[in-house]
Amino acid sequence: MIFETRCAGCDKPGAAICTTCRFALLGATPRNQEHGVIAAVPFTGRARSVVLGLKYRNRRAVGRHLAGLIVNRLVAERAHHGIDVVTWAPTSARRRRERGFDQGELLARAVARQLGIPCRRLLERDSSTTQTGRSRAERLDAAPGFVVRPGVAGRSVLIVDDVVTTGSTLLSAAGALEGGGACTRLAAVASTPASRSASVLPFRKRMVSSAA
Ligand SMILES: [Zn+2]
Repeated sequence: MIFETRCAGCDKPGAAICTTCRFALLGATPRNQEHGVIAAVPFTGRARSVVLGLKYRNRRAVGRHLAGLIVNRLVAERAHHGIDVVTWAPTSARRRRERGFDQGELLARAVARQLGIPCRRLLERDSSTTQTGRSRAERLDAAPGFVVRPGVAGRSVLIVDDVVTTGSTLLSAAGALEGGGACTRLAAVASTPASRSASVLPFRKRMVSSAA
């Protein structure tokens, strides 16, 4: 069987991401950043195709490229300094089984390599907050819970994900790490356009109180 390399964005045979799609991913900054997650590109058009392509084909090459977009954005925002360790918000065991890998982990490892800092698994899914059996609306409301591994106190942690919508997953992961005494910074490849129905959660520890 021959595995032909095709572009994750447009399906053209050749590179894992063709030159046209590569350029289409540059320079577009997502507008919706109320959730405080630093996102490299909007989750629309070719960027959306490439991010979805990460699931299905050439995931190492595509992952490296998408991680590079995150790193470029972090550097542009001067947000790459002072990070001790990179981690991810683990996907559910079921989704991991379906895909055979965890996209967040793949991206976190590639980002860490490019930044020259370690990547560690610092979070586990809290199995008491399983999503199974809930309605779609309930699932959208309920962010997954995470349990933090010991030893994060005083560390500055970058949490990496593929797509941010409401930010609830990343904020839930950040809450767990901050509960363990870490500082957090959140980054994603892509951000969905602002949705009126999406509730944006406030930051916990980092929120500055205006009730002075
Ligand atoms: Zn392409």
